[in-house]
Amino acid sequence: MPEKLIIELSKKGRKGYSLPKLDVEERNLADLIPEKLIRKSEPNLPEVTENEVVRHFVRLSNMNYNVDKGFYPLGSCTMKYNPKINEKLARLEGFLNIHPLQPASTVQGALKLMKTLENLLAEIAGFDAISLQPAAGAHGELTSMMIVRRYHEKQGNPRKYVLIPDSAHGTNPASVTISGYIAKQIKSNERGRVDLDDLKKNLNEDVAAFMVTNPNTLGLFETDIIEISKMVHDVGGLMYMDGANLNALVGYIRPGDIGFDVMHFNLHKTFSTPHGGGGPGSGPVGVKKFLEPFLPVPRIVEKDGKYELSYDFPDSIGKVHFFYGNFNVFIKALTYILMMGEEGLKKVAENAVINANYLKSLLEEEYQLPYKGHCMHEFVLSGKFLRKYGKVRTLDVAKRLLDYGFHAPTIYFPLIVSEALMIEPTETESKETLDAFAETMIKIKKEAMENPELLHSAPHNTPVRRLDEVKAARELKVRW
Ligand SMILES: *Cc1c(COP(=O)(O)O)cnc(C)c1O
Repeated sequence: MPEKLIIELSKKGRKGYSLPKLDVEERNLADLIPEKLIRKSEPNLPEVTENEVVRHFVRLSNMNYNVDKGFYPLGSCTMKYNPKINEKLARLEGFLNIHPLQPASTVQGALKLMKTLENLLAEIAGFDAISLQPAAGAHGELTSMMIVRRYHEKQGNPRKYVLIPDSAHGTNPASVTISGYIAKQIKSNERGRVDLDDLKKNLNEDVAAFMVTNPNTLGLFETDIIEISKMVHDVGGLMYMDGANLNALVGYIRPGDIGFDVMHFNLHKTFSTPHGGGGPGSGPVGVKKFLEPFLPVPRIVEKDGKYELSYDFPDSIGKVHFFYGNFNVFIKALTYILMMGEEGLKKVAENAVINANYLKSLLEEEYQLPYKGHCMHEFVLSGKFLRKYGKVRTLDVAKRLLDYGFHAPTIYFPLIVSEALMIEPTETESKETLDAFAETMIKIKKEAMENPELLHSAPHNTPVRRLDEVKAARELKVRW
């Protein structure tokens, strides 16, 4: 039975608290708060006992699927395990009880922590300066595009176009458009990499930047990247890296060393801070020296061993987030980086790549693999061949996986693969888990061939069955 809303569990007069008798004089609210701010009627809050509240939310959490419950191979999203030590340190009293409006002299430790994280990210990715402000990957992209625009404006011409490969994440063209540029699509070649001829055709002095995801969303390393960056720089354009897939490179390749001028990080992907329903993200931006003047303010500056927040950067694009970004996430990411150390971070990339290639080898003969060869941290299968078995689609495979206790891979993305299944196992999974997932995928393929109806009507044993996603998006109901 579906769980009721908590407001439906309400019974007049039930309480989750008990307070001692009032031992001070009772005051009139109107003496304390301006009349116009005092509500005229009682708020419609559920009246429930503590016991009912706890059970309600535990039941809901049990229905939910999460990385702490099972395998979550959502391609591009890097749903790796989130070590609990991150949470423990983020909850230290000294961090919890500070306020962002405190004078800098009273939060030297917090500023030092942020500066330390900036320095480590710069070292890891090969950049000269970092801003921790953006709140997510997409926000980091937008911030970067604003920096690109400011740079070109300073050169006398903001330029018109930003080039993006056709395999790109949907946030890329969105960020380009919001920053006032026109997004132009560059074709992928038969190897799933940027088509150099198409790039050449589209490169000219109106191009502000090329946005590249490396490894790209097919899980393939852009092997021509040095040549590409030379081509783009030759027309005065900038090289931007979407760093969402940095977990495949960390410790081995520094984007700043292979021609990129600016990049965003996803701390919530590469550096294990929770995301999705698990909390806010963080999308810091790294730049080369010549772009540093344009980074958002305030910047953390160190003077005589003291940290200050400085707004003294006249060419800055300004502020992109209230206060300084998602501080809590910085603590978790820094904890992870320090716990792993240099050797540990190398292992992240190694194991992410090994796990993906192992799983690919178990599935590439069973499903279709449009782009052959070794992959990096993820790979993309096609379920197109399933259509001949009673019109089974990738969506049906994804729904059936839920019946077997797995989260589904990313589906129908990247757009250049028909009926795409994008699988990213991450480095934190065991061989046993990967074997079990592959076996299940193969079993589902057999079911599709023998009993397609079973897939069309899946999932069968989840708390809710197949949802009408279009209706849910079009007719949002957020009030009871
Ligand atoms: C996740 C992702 C983004 C966007 O990051 P968010 O933190 O979700 O905004 C951008 N590009 C790629 C390739 C991604 O995987």
